[in-house]
Parts: sequence; C-alpha cells; structure tokens
Amino acid sequence: MERILVSACLVGRRVRYDGAAKTSGDALLAAWRREGRLVPFCPEVEGGLPVPRPASEIEGGAGGAAVLAGAARVLTADGTDVTRAFLAGAQAALAVARSFGVRVAILKEGSPSCGGLSVYDGSFRGRRVPGVGVTAALLELHGVSVFTEDHVADAAVRLRELAEARPPDRS
Ligand code: SF4
Repeated sequence: MERILVSACLVGRRVRYDGAAKTSGDALLAAWRREGRLVPFCPEVEGGLPVPRPASEIEGGAGGAAVLAGAARVLTADGTDVTRAFLAGAQAALAVARSFGVRVAILKEGSPSCGGLSVYDGSFRGRRVPGVGVTAALLELHGVSVFTEDHVADAAVRLRELAEARPPDRS
C-alpha cells in the first residue's frame, strides 16, 4: 500500500501557527485516510516550534531551496530567526517519508514549510510569490512529488504512474 505524506493541519490537527487546523474536505484525501494510507506530519511542530507560534515567512520570498542552501532565513515578523527549526522539521519530514517509502506528498499551500506553489514574500503583508516551502523543497530534492491540497487529483494521477512504473518499496 503506497503511503502519502500529508500536512497534519489538512487532516484536522490543530498545529498551525494560530492554533487552528485547516481541514481539507477533499473526498479523495478522505478515502485515503480511511484506507490508512496517510502519514500526517507537521514539520514546524516536529522541528521544535510551539502551538501557537508567531507566523513566519522566508525573507525576500526567496523560497525553500534558498533556505536549504543557507542563502535565506526564515523570520518571524519581529525578526526572530527560526531557520534552524524549519530545517530540522524538513529533515524530520524527509526521514519519515523515507521510513514509509513515501513518493507523493500533499502539503498545505502557502506555508513557509509546506507550500508547493507559492510562499509569502517576507513582508508580512499577505502577499504571495511563486515558490515552495522549506520542507517541500527538501522532499522534492529527494524525489518526492509534492502537490497542494487543491491538486489532490493530480497526486492520484502521479500515484498511478508510479505504481505502473514501479511498485512501492513498502506495503
Ligand atoms: S508546517 Fe505544514 S503541517 Fe504544520 S501547520 Fe504549517 S502547513 Fe500545516
């Protein structure tokens, strides 16, 4: 059974910076959850940050790859550097993905950790720019296909392609 890494907030866990969840109503995601295929994970909490916590953004909207390369930091609005926790959370997500043989992840869009298409621009003014979060970037670097909660159907297509090309390593 192919497992799917999913942002914990999308399956109802109250782990967001504001102490809330962002539960997805996607029927496919719900079906996979019933089948026990989902691996919920919150990189920011697993990286050591509390709930609730101050909102964070990648400086300059640089994106997760720049953070991984040491070229950009993750900051709160008051300038506190939380880069280390974001990197630790990304590494923990990768370790969990590997342990379950995960090849597809569905992550919360817009997050500085999980964003798969866009991130906030670092100004804390609610503006997004194209880019991916730190965890999403690390997972993609290691061959995991990342989809947002608005593209679960695309994730299903990818899972079918992968299953046809090579069965999952773990059941
Ligand atoms: S880090 Fe990811 S899983 Fe955790 S609250 Fe933010 S978007 Fe959700």
